Amino acid sequence: MRPHTVPMRGRYVHPRDGEPFFQPYGQDPTEILYSIRRDVLARVLVEQAAPNVRFHFNAPCTGIERDIPALTVTGHGRLTPDYIVGADGAFSTVRQETHRGLPADFRQDFLDWGYKELHLPKTDHLEALHVWPGERGLMVAHPNVDASLTCTLFMPYAELAALPDVPGFFRRNFPSAEIPDLADQFAANPVGHLVTVRTSHWRHADRVVLIGDACHAVYPFYGQGMNSAFEDCVVLDTCLAAHPADRAAAFAAYQRARKPHTDVLADLSEDNFVELRDRLRSPLHRAKKQLDTLLSRAFPGRWHPLYTMISHTTMPYGDALDRARAQDRLVLRTALAGLLAGAAVLAAWKRRRHVQ
Ligand SMILES: Cc1cc2nc3c(=O)[nH]c(=O)nc-3n(C[C@H](O)[C@H](O)[C@H](O)COP(=O)(O)OP(=O)(O)OC[C@H]3O[C@@H](n4cnc5c(N)ncnc54)[C@H](O)[C@@H]3O)c2cc1C
Repeated sequence: MRPHTVPMRGRYVHPRDGEPFFQPYGQDPTEILYSIRRDVLARVLVEQAAPNVRFHFNAPCTGIERDIPALTVTGHGRLTPDYIVGADGAFSTVRQETHRGLPADFRQDFLDWGYKELHLPKTDHLEALHVWPGERGLMVAHPNVDASLTCTLFMPYAELAALPDVPGFFRRNFPSAEIPDLADQFAANPVGHLVTVRTSHWRHADRVVLIGDACHAVYPFYGQGMNSAFEDCVVLDTCLAAHPADRAAAFAAYQRARKPHTDVLADLSEDNFVELRDRLRSPLHRAKKQLDTLLSRAFPGRWHPLYTMISHTTMPYGDALDRARAQDRLVLRTALAGLLAGAAVLAAWKRRRHVQ
C-alpha cells in the first residue's frame, strides 16, 4: 500500500481565531499515520486478491438462510457455500438475517451530526491531518499523493443539509480552506450519516460470521474503523487455524477475542469527537498533551499516551485503555502526594515560626 499513501506526521490545527499550529502525533518520528484514498485501497485489495478470489460486482446479497447456509445474490440466484462471512458494512443484510427471530442485543446510535466530503486542490502542508475545530462545524482533511486534500466537513445534520450561505460559512469558520468551486461541490456531494453499531451476535453456529462494520461500526473520529476491520481478519484467520475441525468454536473464540476491544473503540471514538470538536482548542488540553509527551520522553518505553497506544501499536484497544487509566491514576497519586508533602512542610514551617 505504501506507494499509494501520504505519511501524516501530526495534526495541523487551524483555529478560527489565531495562527495555525502543528501538533506531532508522537515524540518518536516513527509514530506517523498513513493516508490513502478509499477507492485506491479497494482497488489494490481487489488486485492482490484476484488470483484466488472471484469477485461479482453490482450483485447485492438480498437475503441469507442462516441454517443451511445459503444466500441469494442478484444475478446469481441462490448459492450454498460452506459458510458465510458477512463483511457488508454498517447496514449489513447478513447481520439482519442472522439475528432475525433470535434474542440478539443490537444497538445502533446515530450521531446528530452528518458529514460531507469536499476536495481542496492544493496544500502547502502535505504530511499532516488538517483539522479545523469548531463547536457548530468541524472539518478534517486527509492528504492525497497529488498534494490535494480530501476534506470531510462534520456538522449538525439539519444545518449541513440546508446551509444557506456556504461560502460565507466557510469564510467565517474555515478561512484558510480555500476551495475554488465550493458552492458547486457542496450542492453535488451527498450528506453521509455517522453510526455506531453494537451487537451481541457476531456469528451463527459454524455457518455465518460477521466482520468489520457489520458487527462494530464506530464513529470515524479515532480513524480506526478500517484498521479494526483488518484486525478482525487477522484474528478470525488465527482462530480458524487454531480450531481446524471445529468452525463453531473458531467463530466463538474470534468473537470473544475481539468484541471487548471493539466495544472500547466505540466509546473512545465517541469521546474523540468531543476532543476534535472542543478540546483541541483548550489550553488545558494542550497542557495535558504536553505533559504526556514530557512523561513519554522521561520514561521511554514505559509511559505511552493513550492516542499513541491506539494509533501506533497493535495493542488491543481495551488493554490500551486499561494501561492509560493506570498511568492517569499514577499521575493523580503523585500530584496528591506532592500536595500533601507541600502542605506538611508548610505546616511545620508555620509551627516553627510560632514557637520562635
Ligand atoms: C467519514 C468517514 C471517515 C472514516 N475515516 C476512517 C479513517 O480515517 N480510518 C479508518 O481506519 N477508518 C475510517 N472510517 C471507517 C471505515 O470506513 C470503516 O470502518 C471500514 O470501511 C469498514 O470496512 P467494512 O469492509 O467492514 O465495511 P465497508 O467499507 O462499508 O464495506 C462494505 C461493503 O459491502 C458492500 N455491501 C453492502 N451491502 C451489501 C449487500 N447487501 N450485498 C453485497 N455487498 C454489500 C458495500 O457496497 C461495501 O463495498 C471512516 C468512516 C467514515 C464514514
